[in-house]
Amino acid sequence: MVDVASRRNFLRGRFGIRPKPLRPPWALAEHAFQQACSRCGACCKVCPTGIVVSGDGGYPEIDFVRGECTFCAACVSVCPSAALQRGEEGRAWSLRAALGEGCLATRAVECRVCADLCLNGAILFLPQRGGIARPIVDETRCTGCGACLAPCPTRAINVCRST
Ligand code: SF4
Ligand code: SF4
Repeated sequence: MVDVASRRNFLRGRFGIRPKPLRPPWALAEHAFQQACSRCGACCKVCPTGIVVSGDGGYPEIDFVRGECTFCAACVSVCPSAALQRGEEGRAWSLRAALGEGCLATRAVECRVCADLCLNGAILFLPQRGGIARPIVDETRCTGCGACLAPCPTRAINVCRST
């Protein structure tokens, strides 16, 4: 399930409410992360897609407006303080794409750029009786890579934590 509070704020257009920052993949849980991270910025410098930026307090945050995560793990490799580390489960994070109300399909406009760009086939367009197909996110396939966020012409997609 997606973080309901973040999603509700997003759907209601409460963009002024700053959500909790998204940390790089394989980050420790937030409290442990803040304890461990030295704010050295190495992960920001090494990320090949430039999505790791220095955020509040100098801690690294993910900015999907800049691009997507390829899960190359370069950020983990350079982290000198093990604030980023691959656990036994190997799961990078609990992020998933969430579709907002601005999708052009709600205005009967065909777009589908998000589905075209999703390498995992996680965005499906379901036919609607008497209208054009509407997108849904298959959370079992979505990796939260963020590839669909920036290209969406109406910025109708957000990436939220799953619970
Ligand atoms: S895994 Fe690679 S692409 Fe993803 S945030 Fe880390 S360095 Fe960037
Ligand atoms: S490389 Fe590790 S210690 Fe340095 S800013 Fe990134 S997460 Fe923090």
